[in-house]
Amino acid sequence: MAYQSVNPYTGQILDTFQTITDGELINKLKKAELAYNSWSQTGFSERADLLYNAASLLEKEKEKHAEIITSEMGKPIRQSIAEVEKCAWLCRYYAENGENYLKPLKLESTARRSEVWFEPSGVIFAVMPWNFPYWQVFRFMVPNLLAGNTGLLKHASNVPRCGIAIEDLMLRSGAPDGVFMNLFINYEQAHAIISQPAVQGVTLTGSNHAGYKIAELAGRYGKKSVLELGGSDPYIVFNSADLQISSDTAIMARFQNNGQSCISAKRFFIQDSIFDKFLELFKDAVLKIRTGNPMDPDTLIGPIAREDLLVELEEQLGQIRESGGKIITGGKRTSPGSQILEPTIIIDLPKDSRLLDQELFGPIIPVFKFNSEEEAIRLSNDTPYGLAASIWTGDEEQARRVASSLRTGMVTINNMVKSEPALPFGGVKASGYGRELSEFGIREFMNIKTVSFF
Ligand code: NAP
Repeated sequence: MAYQSVNPYTGQILDTFQTITDGELINKLKKAELAYNSWSQTGFSERADLLYNAASLLEKEKEKHAEIITSEMGKPIRQSIAEVEKCAWLCRYYAENGENYLKPLKLESTARRSEVWFEPSGVIFAVMPWNFPYWQVFRFMVPNLLAGNTGLLKHASNVPRCGIAIEDLMLRSGAPDGVFMNLFINYEQAHAIISQPAVQGVTLTGSNHAGYKIAELAGRYGKKSVLELGGSDPYIVFNSADLQISSDTAIMARFQNNGQSCISAKRFFIQDSIFDKFLELFKDAVLKIRTGNPMDPDTLIGPIAREDLLVELEEQLGQIRESGGKIITGGKRTSPGSQILEPTIIIDLPKDSRLLDQELFGPIIPVFKFNSEEEAIRLSNDTPYGLAASIWTGDEEQARRVASSLRTGMVTINNMVKSEPALPFGGVKASGYGRELSEFGIREFMNIKTVSFF
C-alpha cells in the first residue's frame, strides 16, 4: 500500500510514499514508549511552551500550510487558511486552560480526605481523515500532548504531505523526538499498534466502517476509544426565523469544504409557510456560487477530494432521482473530467426515503417541507446519525423544546453548527462516542486516579 498525494483539481500526482516495514514500525513504537516515559514527567509549563511555539509557527507559516491542504484535498484556499488559524487558536487555548482542567479535585468520602488526580495514561494512537487534514489531527494531538500523553498518527492515505508537515512543525516547535510521530502504515500495521501495551487509547475520526473496526480492536485489547464518525445533521427553519439570515447562512452550512464536513447540514427542513420563499432565496444564492480552482481566493466550491468519492456521490444522485427526488440546481460535474460537482439542491424526495440513512458527503442538499414542530423533530431524528443540528426560530422556548428532543451531541440555535476549542464536540448513535475539545476532551485519555487518605 502506498500513500499518494494527488491534486484533485489538476489530477497531478504530487508525491508517493511507501508504507514503512514492520521492523521500522517496531523501532518507532519503542521510540514512542521512551518518549512517553520522559514527556509524561515534564511539567505543564514546558508542555504549554511547545503549544505556544506551534501556534506561532502556524500563524507565521499559514499560507504554506494552507497550500499543502488545498493542493492535496481541494479545500478552497481561504478555508484552508482559516483551518490553519484555528489550529493555532486550539494550541493557545489548551496552553492557557489545559492545566486548569486537570487540577486535582477534592471529594467528600468516608476517608479523611479524597482527591482525584488527572494523570497521563500513555501513547494515544489516532486514525484520521482527509477532510480537515490539520484540524482533526490537532484536535486529538493538542490536548493529549498538553496532558502528558504522546501521539501516533495514521493519517488518511491521500493527505501524506499534511501528515509530514504536522510532524515537522511539532519538531520545529520543540517536541522531543517521538512525542508526536506521523506513520505511513497499512491497515494491518494500524491494527497491530492497538495491541501494544504502551498504547493506552485510540481515537478515530472517519467513516462508520473504519470506526467500528478500530473500536472492535480497542475492545479486544481493552483500550479506551473515542469515535468521531459521520453525520446527517438537520437544518430546521421555523416560520418565525429570520428568513434572509437563515437562507444566507445555509450556503456555508452546507457547502463549506466542498460539502465534505461531518457537521455540515445534510437535510434541510423548512416550515410550510416560508418554504417557497426560503427555497427561492437559497436557490438564487446557490446559482451565484463560484466553483473552480481551489487556489483562487474567490472560489467557494472546489473539487471533491478523490475521484472514487465523487463517483459514489454520482451513484447516490442516481438513486435519489430514481426515488422521485427532483434536482433543481446542479446535479453534475462542472465539465466532463472535472472533479467538481455543481452545488445541487433536491426537492420532492419522499421524507421517509431510506436513502437518507446514508451520509451525503458532498455539495448536495435535499430540502423538505414540514408543518408542525412535532413533525420537524420526528424527521430530524429519523436517521441513524446523531452528530449535530441547527435550529432557526424566533421563539426561544421553542428552541429549548426542540433542542431537548433532538438525539444529537450538539445543537446550535440561529446559526450554523461550528466547532470551537471551548465547546465539547462529538455525537451519539451512529455518529460515535466520546468528546473532543474543551475540558471534556482533554480528560478522555487521562488516568482519573482516585487517592484517599484515611
Ligand atoms: P475513512 O475512509 O473512514 O478514513 C478515515 C481514516 O480511517 C483514514 O486514515 C483511513 O485510512 C482509515 N481507515 C479506513 N479503514 C480502515 C481500517 N479498516 N483499518 C484502519 N484504518 C482504516 O473516512 P474518510 O472518507 O477519510 O472521512 C470521511 C468521514 O469522516 C465522513 O463520514 C465524515 O463525516 C467523517 N468525519 C467525522 C468527523 C467528526 O468529528 N465526527 C469529522 C470529520 C470527518 P486510508 O485513508 O488509508 O483508507
